Amino acid sequence: MSFKLLHYDVIEPGLCARCGVCAGVCPTKAIGFDCRSYPRLVGKCTNCGYCNHSCPGAEVDFNALSKELFGRNYDPHSLLGTQEQMFVGYPTDEAIRREGASGGLTTGLLAYLLKTDRIKGAVVIGHDPDKPWQFKSVLATSREQIVSAAKSKYCIVPSMSVLADLHKKEGPFAVVGLPCQVHGLRKIAAVYPKLANKIKYIFGLYCHYNMEKDAYLNALKTSGIAPGQVAQFQFRGGGWPGGFWAKLADGTEKMLHPSILYKDVMSIMLRLYGAERCFMCTDAANDFADLGMGDFWATDYKKPFSELTSCTLVSQRTATGRDLLNSAVDDGAVKLYELPAERYSKRILNYCHEKKIEGHANLRRRRAKSLPVPDYHYDLPAINVRQRLTVEFYRSTRLLRGPRRQRVATHILFSPLGSILNQINQLRKKLFLGLEGN
Ligand SMILES: Cc1cc2nc3c(=O)[nH]c(=O)nc-3n(C[C@H](O)[C@H](O)[C@H](O)COP(=O)(O)OP(=O)(O)OC[C@H]3O[C@@H](n4cnc5c(N)ncnc54)[C@H](O)[C@@H]3O)c2cc1C
Repeated sequence: MSFKLLHYDVIEPGLCARCGVCAGVCPTKAIGFDCRSYPRLVGKCTNCGYCNHSCPGAEVDFNALSKELFGRNYDPHSLLGTQEQMFVGYPTDEAIRREGASGGLTTGLLAYLLKTDRIKGAVVIGHDPDKPWQFKSVLATSREQIVSAAKSKYCIVPSMSVLADLHKKEGPFAVVGLPCQVHGLRKIAAVYPKLANKIKYIFGLYCHYNMEKDAYLNALKTSGIAPGQVAQFQFRGGGWPGGFWAKLADGTEKMLHPSILYKDVMSIMLRLYGAERCFMCTDAANDFADLGMGDFWATDYKKPFSELTSCTLVSQRTATGRDLLNSAVDDGAVKLYELPAERYSKRILNYCHEKKIEGHANLRRRRAKSLPVPDYHYDLPAINVRQRLTVEFYRSTRLLRGPRRQRVATHILFSPLGSILNQINQLRKKLFLGLEGN
């Protein structure tokens, strides 16, 4: 059981999610990363097998996890996963709310846990101080660090590598992760319980797909900004809900797509730059986190929810998540509104459905061609003709992949022509998806 095995079983066959868990569990800190964030051996491997056994790249037993966490089999048809309740909410600290991607609830809860001494720190993603246009995972141990790491980073960052800093530290800690990262965190419990027991709270971000970092680097270049000029880059900067935004070294701030909403830019960019491994993932709402955190779009709703702009959607899944939310509400740190099942967001259900059918179709297609696939330990649901056509439509966007085509498409998207094409696409969505009426 060595890093070599991880290399041959996971990295080489294209199953590595680049979550960073392997580096995070390695007791000798022998695993580093190449420039595309793939793990590589940088020290001496002691053949302990921790990296192999906790890696979520080739195998995650969804059924076993579901039984362990919720006492029931995994249901591949459930779009939002097992949840006790769903809420829309925000932290009462307005400064934190303003900093957040959706409503700042994730950051607000982390700050609350730290303030009430329930955690010693949190694994989050901040900016690389040496290269401010890049992102770096950090074990945040102060409110300032937690708040400055707010907002979504839609690019691959193997942030679980920071778990390596937890080995010799006293817990408990909180960790924020994408679904693949949470799969790895849950696997650690069986492999390295001493480390897993230090992680008390797992915050999972909903995740359609994540992107290669070329996505924002090309967006910057096409907007005439060299990475070296950037003092800070945000995917959700420039005020809620934000967008690709850069602050330059001379203090100038620039929104790279002033007339297109971030979510509409993202839906195209994900197709252009989505990481290949993400298209084999079927977990959209972070089904195994204590709390799943997503975007809440008040504009899709009628009253009273239409008034809840700048809020986060929360899937409360476990007792740990429930206790945390209850005490944060009681202490006045957050405000929550229960979202009844009949008013679940159509937009969120649509994207979860899309991710699942696309994941299932891709897994089936790859299996049929004897290509490597991750094993989630459940029977893949059948895909009907309508779903197959939808998946094929999305697959056709792969024609735009390849460095030159990606650059041209990005150029168009971030130009006035992109804005016109976006308006046509919005009309299509309004007519065919019917998102309003929640
Ligand atoms: C790649 C990606 C895809 C997403 N896709 C969707 C989607 O399709 N639909 C949807 O509803 N929501 C999606 N989200 C979640 C959404 O963008 C918000 O992160 C979520 O709603 C929480 O908002 P918040 O204001 O409470 O978070 P904040 O208070 O801003 O806190 C976010 C926390 O997450 C950490 N973080 C940011 N990026 C990452 C990352 N890449 N990996 C690990 N930790 C990170 C930050 O450091 C911070 O601690 C996605 C997020 C990411 C990063």
